[in-house]
Amino acid sequence: MTRKRTNRKDRLTCYLGKNLKMNPEVYALRRQVMDVIYKAKELVPELPRLDVRIIEGNRHNILGVAQSGDCVIWIPENSLTNNVEFLPHVVLHEICHAVWSAPHDNDCPLMSPYLNLGEPPMTWEQLSEAFLGAYQRSLSVTLREAG
Ligand SMILES: [Zn+2]
Repeated sequence: MTRKRTNRKDRLTCYLGKNLKMNPEVYALRRQVMDVIYKAKELVPELPRLDVRIIEGNRHNILGVAQSGDCVIWIPENSLTNNVEFLPHVVLHEICHAVWSAPHDNDCPLMSPYLNLGEPPMTWEQLSEAFLGAYQRSLSVTLREAG
């Protein structure tokens, strides 16, 4: 699926759904996403600023969306209403796409394209380790591209 990108407003629009106006529920969910981003910044201080948008709910079982390499992540309002303990996993996964264009990787617990909500969530320690692993891989890709 391609999407024409002409300006910043367009860049911040997600194909899945409309950006929601801020109300207390949306604000609370965005606050939780920002808290995960702050913790991610403690792990990787050079992490760039990310745009976070909460979009209207969807029926696609999609928990989060990122524009690869574009530092924008979208979280559907209903994505984790009943499974909010998985939010750190979803946010770190989307950060890896959004910042480092990290691909899906079935061998990486963080970058697997699927999240099994029936299993216990990964601990922050496990998530941190996988996140730093994805960061390290992004560095080695950059070095290889640089020649
Ligand atoms: Zn993904």
